[in-house]
Amino acid sequence: MKSDSELKKRIGTIDGRGYKAYKQLEGRYRFARFELNIAHVQGDPYAAPSRVRVRVDRGASGLLPDTTSNRSRRTALCDYLTRMFYAACQQVCRGSRGIGKSGVITVARPVQEILERNSMAINDRYVEVRFFMGLPAVGRKISGRDAMAMFFDELPRIVEASLFMKNLEPQSLYDHIRTAEDADALRAELPRRSLIAFAADGALLPRASGIDPKPLPSKQAVRFNSPDRFRVEMDLPNAGRVSGMGIPEGVTLIVGGGYHGKSTLLDALELGVYNHVPGDGREQVVTREDAVKIRAADGRNIEKVDITSFITDLPFGRQTRSFSTSNASGSTSQAANISEALEMGAKVLMLDEDTSATNFMIRDHRMQLLVAKEHEPITPFIDRVRQLYLEKGVSTVLVMGGSGDYFSTADHVIQMTGYEPVDVTDRAHEIARICVSERVREAGEAFGSVSDRIPMAESFDPLRGGKVKISTAGLRRIVFGCRDIDLWDVEQLTDPAQTRAVAYALQYAVRYMDHRRSLKEVADRVLADIDQYGLDILTSYCTGDLARFRRFELAATVNRMRSLKVEQRVADG
Ligand code: ADP
Ligand code: MG
Repeated sequence: MKSDSELKKRIGTIDGRGYKAYKQLEGRYRFARFELNIAHVQGDPYAAPSRVRVRVDRGASGLLPDTTSNRSRRTALCDYLTRMFYAACQQVCRGSRGIGKSGVITVARPVQEILERNSMAINDRYVEVRFFMGLPAVGRKISGRDAMAMFFDELPRIVEASLFMKNLEPQSLYDHIRTAEDADALRAELPRRSLIAFAADGALLPRASGIDPKPLPSKQAVRFNSPDRFRVEMDLPNAGRVSGMGIPEGVTLIVGGGYHGKSTLLDALELGVYNHVPGDGREQVVTREDAVKIRAADGRNIEKVDITSFITDLPFGRQTRSFSTSNASGSTSQAANISEALEMGAKVLMLDEDTSATNFMIRDHRMQLLVAKEHEPITPFIDRVRQLYLEKGVSTVLVMGGSGDYFSTADHVIQMTGYEPVDVTDRAHEIARICVSERVREAGEAFGSVSDRIPMAESFDPLRGGKVKISTAGLRRIVFGCRDIDLWDVEQLTDPAQTRAVAYALQYAVRYMDHRRSLKEVADRVLADIDQYGLDILTSYCTGDLARFRRFELAATVNRMRSLKVEQRVADG
């Protein structure tokens, strides 16, 4: 390792030269309070910024062992320090210092969710942050003076402010890790109590706007308050006893007038598979890890999915046991989304009428009279939802303000009125008894099987013009080789760092595709490797801008690849 004065000297020598000379800075340098590793220097001022790491001795950082004493805490600490580092960059960085990315110091910016990230690596020996610097250029020439300021003034100040306990607020740091630890404890408790989700009394569910995931200012918001029938109490390691609504396994309907907060509740439950930062309002809104949002996504690609539980006998004799299309309809896309989720082991499905295909959800009595069953390929969800629970143990939470025919399928009915949940289960069942619906059940005796699919490695080609091309644009678009993958409908992706990790995981997963393993088995292997070795395993060099994803989002991405080739696994016996 070189000294920091060596770095000064090198910057002095390359000052004013062509940008490529920055390459000479790559290497490790010993600063007074940390180690600097300039791991990869960008090729030009407009390219992705240079990848840099800073390592602080764990002892010197002052971060006590209780900040990393279990997985929840370790993950939350990394997340917290990333936020502090990001905030310090915002404060200290002078901003642009020339053309392109010149002057930038930044780290992958976290969202409202506390996720496992590789922007920080923490162990007994050190705390390491992985971040990005735009090395400064004026007119494509190296600006030594600006580089000096960035490495010897700004960076040390950012590191001081964010990686040393004495400069952090202990209250806020411990709040962050305790909140995450409590949320993990809550989630772990759900299956033990046969619950699929929990929303604490006092939680704040609405968001600032349709594009801003921060909480709605609390003056305007009605806080969550559980109906007595569903109220449960939980004991948390830090917050102690909390009460709130526990949604039991089974079929749960959320009904209510338009604009009364139905979708807002479901949205919060969807993201309850992740932990939230203190102040978010949804810190104690948790959902089981195996819960998947199901929606219609017309236009998507579908590759050999068995959708016969919902759709059979399409026009022109098209069969649906192994259904493929490059342009799905609303109903076929929703059917495929369910089959694919079941294939990956989903135990909870969450649907909102706002984003469902009407003909997939319901066919009422009059329509049954007009259009005979033999002319309707669709078996609506209403006739499958109980079978899903009774035969497969798959629960459903369904927002449905538009059809009372669902009352007879539901175990629990919650009505949102003026943003307050009210238990109306008994009333709904009574109505179902008194007003007998004349619609006829259309499903057969059993739900049917779900077939595993085996992904073909050849269909995962990351090359474009002979070079690996993997990148993302924001949260919902991946470029993989010559193809774009559109994830506009994958609602449980929440952080662009997850999308990046999924993109690299597509390439990583190929090693497990041996023409025998199913998509689920491949995804499980990838996630087991991430558990064992960390997210760094996904890339050949350390990027620092990846966050953990679930197997459902990895599968959803694979299933949307237009190059995907699979074979269905023939069921045994
Ligand atoms: P629905 O699905 O019942 O039609 P939404 O959930 O879309 O209704 O909510 C309608 C509006 O009310 C949204 O703008 C949402 O942000 C707001 N809202 C939802 N829940 C609350 C709440 N608890 N307090 C204040 N506003 C809320
Ligand atoms: Mg709605």
